[in-house]
Amino acid sequence: MDPRTDSARAAGEAARELRDTFRGDLLLPRDQRYETARRVWNGSIDRYPGLIARCADTGDVIAALRAARRHGLEVAVRGGGHSIAGHGVADGAVTIDLSRMATVQVDADARRVTVQAGSLLSGVDRETQRHGLAVTSGFVSHTGVAGLTLGGGFGWMARKHGLACDNLRSARVVLADGSHAVAGMEDDADLLWALRGGGGNFGIVTSFEFDLHRVGPMVTTGAGLYDLDDGRKVLELFRELAAEATDETTWAASVWDVEPGSSLPQEYHGKPVVSLAFVHIGDVEHGVATGRRLRGVAQPLDETVGPVPYLEVQTSNDAAWSHGMRRYWKSHYLWELPDAAIDTFLARGTATLGGGASVAGSLLARGGAIGRTGEHDSAVGHRGALFEFMASTGWADPDEDETRRSDVRTFADRMARFGRGVYVNNLDIEGEDRVRDAYGVQKYQRLAALKARFDPDNVFHLNQNIRPATASAARLPHSATET
Ligand code: FAD
Repeated sequence: MDPRTDSARAAGEAARELRDTFRGDLLLPRDQRYETARRVWNGSIDRYPGLIARCADTGDVIAALRAARRHGLEVAVRGGGHSIAGHGVADGAVTIDLSRMATVQVDADARRVTVQAGSLLSGVDRETQRHGLAVTSGFVSHTGVAGLTLGGGFGWMARKHGLACDNLRSARVVLADGSHAVAGMEDDADLLWALRGGGGNFGIVTSFEFDLHRVGPMVTTGAGLYDLDDGRKVLELFRELAAEATDETTWAASVWDVEPGSSLPQEYHGKPVVSLAFVHIGDVEHGVATGRRLRGVAQPLDETVGPVPYLEVQTSNDAAWSHGMRRYWKSHYLWELPDAAIDTFLARGTATLGGGASVAGSLLARGGAIGRTGEHDSAVGHRGALFEFMASTGWADPDEDETRRSDVRTFADRMARFGRGVYVNNLDIEGEDRVRDAYGVQKYQRLAALKARFDPDNVFHLNQNIRPATASAARLPHSATET
């Protein structure tokens, strides 16, 4: 018996059973909209779910989950579809697609926002900024709120106000058995703890409630672009600026190859350059003064500093990280940035391929409120890490898949000796040990014990999976002091 035929038949039966009461869309491979619906952000993911259940409400989520379980089908959950590993879709599975559930409701007086789980960051930024408010989100506004928050959620506000998940007050969740729970400080604090960083392992979140903060409408951004020969000096300055920055300022440094057609002089096309950039979410005058630091170190090839609407900053990377390109990245947390790490970063360790984007390296400064938030308040690992390193690339030609991925791995492997731990949301499919690396031993144990409580059959395994602890290992450390 061909298992693909079996799962296709089971998916068809599940769809037939759901049809009369389902309020959203049920998309089978023969449906016209299926082809678009199965695509995710990473163009190299090419999977064929048995059924895509595009839910309109919580009732649909429960019904789709129960139908999948009844028919022995795997369950994939899709928020914004941005996981690099493409976890929102799997061959033969039922994809529970939340994209139709994207309402954002702001309570400006209470400084709270309720966000349905299919929302993108853009929707939340837009609605909250109408009131001069915002919550920490990410750097690319077409990313999904759900996956980003459940894994942590780092953005320009994180050093001041904590990660997205630190601002999560409560969440409505459909559990593996089809029941519905509200995880909050009072209601089910263990579940809330796990949802703050533990990924999609514990249930299907249907809505999030976040705290909001005053931000904008104007913030300040600055960026300097430098010749690679000045790279060492620029990265040393980055290290210094990151250490002395106020919580309102987040610094980033990158190395990449200038694309042909860039506005930079021809001599730089196809050549590596280094950038040093920041976003300051506080007082604009202070932000502009911060920008002066870009000039002292070396003569920039290009430089911009100035006030920009917060909403514009939030969408400024959207085009560079557009949908559909084939993508690969690898990342590590760094706890310091020694000179040897700077040199390795600048060298990248890769042969660049002609004509297209080659491997880029980036370093983001963390710290501030991320590190001050208690290590035990959430499942998020490695709060004390000071930098996040990432090697990444994007390409169009499938024939380049192996070379591109291998270039990224080479670069990341060379940086690995300076790193410890990894951000779970930046993991590809890298194996169980790397998932453990994302949390550390004790947190992973607590997560595994909670997994055994909330999802003992590991229904939610198409993610950065935490295996349910076995009965003997599942003694649950409840208090912070035990973890
Ligand atoms: P999906 O692929 O839909 O989901 C990701 C995971 O979450 C899957 O395992 C899925 O099953 C699970 N999941 C999704 N929705 C739910 C739900 N409602 N309930 C339970 N589980 C669910 N991260 C940052 O912290 N900061 C950034 O600035 C940032 N920028 C990024 C930019 C780009 C272009 C991309 C591709 C990623 C970026 N990330 C960033 C990483 C991002 O946080 C993760 O890729 C995240 O998983 C994306 O969430 P999603 O909902 O879009 O993805």
